[in-house]
Amino acid sequence: MTNHLFDLIRSRMPAPEASFATLDDGRRYSYQDMLDVSARFANALVALGVKPGDRVAVQVEKSIEALMLYLGTVRAGAIFLPLNTAYTPAEIEYFLGDAEPAVFVCDPAKATALKPFAEKAGAKLETLGVWRSPDVSAGTLPDAALGASTSFDDIARGPDDLAAILYTSGTTGRSKGAMLSHDNLASNALTLVDTWRFTKDDVLLHALPIFHTHGLFVATNVILLAGASMILLPKFDPEQVFAHLPQATCMMGVPTFYVRLLQDARLTKEATRHIRLFVSGSAPLLAETHREWRERTGHAILERYGMTETNMNTSNPYEGDRVAGTVGFPLPGVSARVVDPENGRELARDEIGMIEVKGPNVFKGYWRNPEKTKAEFREDGFFITGDLGKIDPAGYVHIVGRGKDLIITGGYNVYPKEVETEIDGMAGVIESAVFGVAHPDFGEGVTAAVVVKPGATVMASDIAKALEDRLAKFKQPKQVFVVPELPRNTMGKVQKNLLREQYKDIYARR
Ligand code: AMP
Repeated sequence: MTNHLFDLIRSRMPAPEASFATLDDGRRYSYQDMLDVSARFANALVALGVKPGDRVAVQVEKSIEALMLYLGTVRAGAIFLPLNTAYTPAEIEYFLGDAEPAVFVCDPAKATALKPFAEKAGAKLETLGVWRSPDVSAGTLPDAALGASTSFDDIARGPDDLAAILYTSGTTGRSKGAMLSHDNLASNALTLVDTWRFTKDDVLLHALPIFHTHGLFVATNVILLAGASMILLPKFDPEQVFAHLPQATCMMGVPTFYVRLLQDARLTKEATRHIRLFVSGSAPLLAETHREWRERTGHAILERYGMTETNMNTSNPYEGDRVAGTVGFPLPGVSARVVDPENGRELARDEIGMIEVKGPNVFKGYWRNPEKTKAEFREDGFFITGDLGKIDPAGYVHIVGRGKDLIITGGYNVYPKEVETEIDGMAGVIESAVFGVAHPDFGEGVTAAVVVKPGATVMASDIAKALEDRLAKFKQPKQVFVVPELPRNTMGKVQKNLLREQYKDIYARR
């Protein structure tokens, strides 16, 4: 047996001297460097006692070394477990207790605070910081790696062995660890390379975080399996994006990247002339953003849909119509259907229901949680995504929101997206979030938070009035709030749970 994922990476490698990554500090990593440094990390992990199947939990800032640690972990036959840099020590305590990693790698600045939790979970604590210069240590793990050999015999791992555990963002209840196998990652990245026509000539502008499926697996694995290269930015910063766009051929982003770049006068056809592909995902891209981007740059953003548990499920076509407000067609090898959530009956085209998917991309279950795993799969192997949507007659998948965001008011179902689309289309409105809040008469009351354009004089009452002619009475928000911005997580997703919490008492009987 061989190491399924890393063998594939090797088999698709371009010439060793070809560029793998260019960094914002001017350093350049070749594919040979990628092999050497990931081998050093694999050796350092084995020297720490890491065995096949052990978890290596990591909460570090974005860096090329962190990516090499990911590859070193896979080569050592262990399971990479990245954690959001925003998690607090109390949250880290939960993840370490749940995952019981052999090693926990954190930022040097957080080592003192996190040491007790690593000890409690039985994990060895190591540090990895951002490289500054050859004279300054970047942490205990890179120091150990520097002293280790550049050759390493990759540990044998089959297609179904785990390569990573990614915790879900957990907006309802505790987050769960999604177990992703070597083949889940390999097959999905190969499909994306083909579908999005990646070649070794591509240069990806990489500004996404690397603790999430988008920046870690979609971006990094696609580049590796295309033998292409990336410009690795520490974070999304419009200054850096505009400085590096001319050297790039493609960019992957969350919708907020596109919204922010549209606010900048430097975004022109000329500035994006060398780009062949803009991809968006992780949260819904407003149809308006899609249109504006096309007008300003001439590029139709390609929107795709995926999740931690499933990697990527659907994509708008590379050739053919990239339809704003849709997430395109199921990827080759992936089956998608829309069912009645009550009884699992498959629905006809254009009917809204629960989206379910099946394919080599779908994860192996939740870590140490067989009950939850069982509850989320149908007997025929389809995974219940929790997203509500429909498939239109042309086969495009539309997402109307998370199932948990569905509002049931007076016995009627209200899909927040339908109301948001009406509000977003009004003059002076930037965006909106519609959610349900407990209501003594209706069960839930439809409620809207709306962000208006700077200087616009739109009032909450104007919005409510305008909706009267456009939506059935039960869909009209009972209250509209004009807010400065919507609460979002780092991947740009609107956190409706926070809105529901903030406004939970507005309909309470006095
Ligand atoms: P995560 O597991 O954090 O990647 O979140 C996955 C969820 O993000 C999905 O279940 C969807 O609700 C949402 N999502 C991802 N991509 C899109 C998209 N293109 N449009 C709408 N929602 C999306």
